[in-house]
Amino acid sequence: MSRTADMAAAVLACEWGRVLDAVASDVGPHRGAGRVADYIPALARVDPGHFGMCLATRDGEQAGVGDARVPFSIQSISKVFGLTLALRCRGEALWERLGREPSGSAFNSVVQLESERGVPRNPFINAGALVVTDVLVSEFGAAGALEAMVSTLRELSGNPAIAVDEEVAASEAETGHRNRSLAHFMKSFGRIENDVDEVLDVYFRQCALAMSCEDLARASLWLANDGRAPGRDEPFVSQTLARRINAIMLTCGHYDAAGDFAYRVGLPGKSGVGGGIIVVVPDRLCVAVWSPGLDASGNSKVGTLALEAFVEHTGLAIF
Ligand code: GLU
Repeated sequence: MSRTADMAAAVLACEWGRVLDAVASDVGPHRGAGRVADYIPALARVDPGHFGMCLATRDGEQAGVGDARVPFSIQSISKVFGLTLALRCRGEALWERLGREPSGSAFNSVVQLESERGVPRNPFINAGALVVTDVLVSEFGAAGALEAMVSTLRELSGNPAIAVDEEVAASEAETGHRNRSLAHFMKSFGRIENDVDEVLDVYFRQCALAMSCEDLARASLWLANDGRAPGRDEPFVSQTLARRINAIMLTCGHYDAAGDFAYRVGLPGKSGVGGGIIVVVPDRLCVAVWSPGLDASGNSKVGTLALEAFVEHTGLAIF
């Protein structure tokens, strides 16, 4: 970048900084609201008062507020990257293994799976993500599947220190009875190719990756840039694939509250029970927000409020 372009980017980053400061002040009175995910004991110990937000634009500007650089458990946000890797390997054939319709059910629901004979509704509910992980284990082996995910996130975010939080991974493995039952149930229908415990281990570990809002906003930029990640010569994925993943995020990214999130925020997004949410403003930027307290659907309460405020301040929504 030239010196003038550099300075222009700095001025813009400063304006984005003011937007994020305004958002943080709007949600200030709500800090600490919601309930941390207590079904994973290591997450129950996280201070609900955390709040961080970071924005990265495809033109190279970046701004953050609060705990924007504090790593947290990305949980289901990892499902976006798992799906992307699986689609890169299998292409459209992946859809023989799972659907791409909103589920209208909780993220860990078993009910639908029985009536739909072990075929998960979409890749962002737990059952669907387990199938995606199974595909990655078939492609890369168990160690290779996790390694593919970690190295992709390190490269896309520019942070070589991204790693699994071993305490969260162990905690989830100890208490992951619901996920075990989903995986065994699908295996009984012949829908899981690999050893169930191996698939679960990779799944628990990918959910336990620790990243900050800054890492996530940067790692997601290709979603706002037709599949091109900054600093990479080759596109990360094709324009078509980037568009399709955005579509699945919009329709399925918030479990049984996907409609509510589209109504309130109006952007493709993906949440995780660690309290993180990423959203995409197509052709412009990505935002990552973190506040650990969740609403009844398992989505960050204050994080959603902050994104609503961000859209109010900027008018940046797809509708
Ligand atoms: N690791 C979590 C679980 O399997 C992911 C759920 C989420 O973040 O929505 O329960």
